[in-house]
Amino acid sequence: MSGLLNLLDLDRTAAEALMVQLGERPFHARNLIRWIHKRGVTDVAQMTDLPQALRAALQQQTQVLLPEVVFQQPALDGTTKWLLQLPDEQRIEMVHIPEAKRGTLCVSSQVGCALDCTFCSTAQQGFNRNLSAGELIAQVWLARHRLGRKLTNVVLMGMGEPLANLAAVVRAINLMTDDLAYMLGQTRVTLSTSGIVPALYRLREVSNVSLAVSLHAPDNDLRDQLVPINRKYPLEQLIPACRAFVANDKRRKVTWEYVMLDQVNDAPAQARQLTRLLAQVPSKINLIPFNPFPGTLYRTSSPERILAFQQHLQQAGFVTTIRKTRGDDVAAACGQLVGRVQDRSRRQQQRTQATA
Ligand code: SAH
Repeated sequence: MSGLLNLLDLDRTAAEALMVQLGERPFHARNLIRWIHKRGVTDVAQMTDLPQALRAALQQQTQVLLPEVVFQQPALDGTTKWLLQLPDEQRIEMVHIPEAKRGTLCVSSQVGCALDCTFCSTAQQGFNRNLSAGELIAQVWLARHRLGRKLTNVVLMGMGEPLANLAAVVRAINLMTDDLAYMLGQTRVTLSTSGIVPALYRLREVSNVSLAVSLHAPDNDLRDQLVPINRKYPLEQLIPACRAFVANDKRRKVTWEYVMLDQVNDAPAQARQLTRLLAQVPSKINLIPFNPFPGTLYRTSSPERILAFQQHLQQAGFVTTIRKTRGDDVAAACGQLVGRVQDRSRRQQQRTQATA
């Protein structure tokens, strides 16, 4: 790699710092951000309202480094999945979900994932590295400017655990919500996490995005198995952290994601447990039918069991939706994103040894 600074890594504050470093006035950062993110221009020579000397310096010292689109897979329902290749040949996936009045982009935050949730196909790939802020926002840039997608919402629900890559994620969120860039309201950006509690408190200090939490179980015993990070940050830590996250505004709610696994977490008694667990938190519950992938031992709950579970929660007063599975014919549904990960966690190797 060239070692040149990637301009996509800069949010407005970082761009201002660069201007100062180059001996220019900070306000030029505004124009730079606008050219790149609002207008989609990556060639500094075309940024005609920047002073000549600044353009020359930027041309010499910086670049706009975008991932390569390896291929695009449109599903029958209009959902489209892209496979992107990064400069070090790692691959990530992103998904666009069009609806009548919305266009949602689902972006990845890491190459692979280290958390090893048992029902997630990204987890099976192992983990390689964090994405940079530039690689995060490049997904939004590509969708908007190269692929021409309408974007009203961004969800950090692709590959990876966003709170394990907090600094880069916050920079990218700053750009998504910046009026000079993508202009998304803070609540139109949703960060989904399996619950890295200290990072959740830090995020709350710097951002007001919508929060989705991968709960998936109503008690520690089961959650320890399904979402192993629970052993480190159990429910008695996670629930108060989530409550604190939305406490500054009466209208805000935590969205709890709950994957429906047949005979594992979908019994009526578990729905009752869930209502007790969440009683003190302003909550929305999103039931996600499990999306199978090759090699998994889990099965999706039957529609009857999902409906019964939903009714239970609704009767207890919780807004409860069932997520429509989109794009499953091209493996673009939740938990099916794999990319191509060179596993550094050696998880594949451990699995092979364990079964040998
Ligand atoms: N690491 C983050 C974001 C990634 S996934 C997190 O854990 O929240 C987005 C959602 O899809 C999470 O709720 C995740 O638990 C869920 N998911 C993962 N695999 C799934 C599968 N096979 N079927 C349905 N949902 C799945």
